[in-house]
Amino acid sequence: MSSPNRDPDHGGDSAGTRSPEIRKDPVTNRWVVFSPARAKRPTDFKSKSPQNPNPKSSSCPFCIGREDDCAPEIFRVPDVPDWKIRVIENLYPALNRDLEIQTGQLKTGRVLPGFGFHDVVVEAPVHSIQLSDMDPEDIGGVLLAYTKRIEQIKQHDSVKYIQVFKNHGASAGASMSHSHSQILALPVVPPTVSSRLDGTKEYFDQTGWCCLCEAKPKELVINESCHFVSFVPFAAAFPFEIWIVPKYHSSHFHDLDTNKAVDLGRLLKLMLQKMAKQLNKPPFNYMIHTSPLEVAESQLLYTHWFLQIVPQLSGVGGFEIGTGCYINPVFPEDVAKVLREVSLP
Ligand code: AMP
Ligand code: ZN
Ligand code: ZN
Repeated sequence: MSSPNRDPDHGGDSAGTRSPEIRKDPVTNRWVVFSPARAKRPTDFKSKSPQNPNPKSSSCPFCIGREDDCAPEIFRVPDVPDWKIRVIENLYPALNRDLEIQTGQLKTGRVLPGFGFHDVVVEAPVHSIQLSDMDPEDIGGVLLAYTKRIEQIKQHDSVKYIQVFKNHGASAGASMSHSHSQILALPVVPPTVSSRLDGTKEYFDQTGWCCLCEAKPKELVINESCHFVSFVPFAAAFPFEIWIVPKYHSSHFHDLDTNKAVDLGRLLKLMLQKMAKQLNKPPFNYMIHTSPLEVAESQLLYTHWFLQIVPQLSGVGGFEIGTGCYINPVFPEDVAKVLREVSLP
């Protein structure tokens, strides 16, 4: 219960009874401060900038029929005029696919040519359709388009890591409202990935287990499908953050097959729908965290890919920028309970 002096809008049941706690997840290898005194009740979290139904823009280049207004196409699925998915070059790429990197530069350099690939995946031909509206087979098709493009890009020796991500809603970084995601291939392994390798190796060395293969505590689980489980991570950095993890051990996302892609599509749809209902259609990001393209045989034992969904409910402030630690006002087990119980029509 809240103390009599506490602002009645702040502090749910858990806030009244629980002390702050600092947790470190072996996967992210990062400390998170759980500070329920700063919290609303888990059920009070709502987006302040919900996404409007997506108004049709007469000038949207991602709509079917406007292909000539886009940067060059890489492939479409199926390969007919009436496509469902297109993978295209980004018109304003962060990195340039035509630059060359010499092997020596990667070993010694602090400055590299800005080589890399930056592609856009247009997830549907029609402007008004969002990913969560699509059926599991079509969401699976988008996931398989990611894997196909990764297989192509990984032929380039200079590419070390490939990040698939989605920005949905302006405050989640999206500049286009037509449903899309992006694939960015880097000539370096980014710091969150190195940190994950260190954390999961440490766990493996101590226990003999891949930490993402370990059974998830029941109180953190939201839903399960045949091959995947969705849960709130033990040290979630963001309120209502969700992870979807394969139940089988797999280091690389791009090894996903058709059957598992559809199964993942079903669980991803469920999580996006539950999040939209519970949080009032928040802007969100999802990121596919996979392993570097080149991993040693020994690293395959403890690297396990997963998909992270982060609704944009709170901004990152000076504490987070300064320390690399996050403050989360809601405990993961409370969020998991709320999301488990969301009922959909
Ligand atoms: P976001 O900013 O997350 O919504 O991602 C949309 C991406 O699409 C941005 O990175 C833009 O650079 C890119 N983009 C915008 N217009 C076009 C276009 N006509 N063809 C290809 N890519 C585009
Ligand atoms: Zn459009
Ligand atoms: Zn595993």
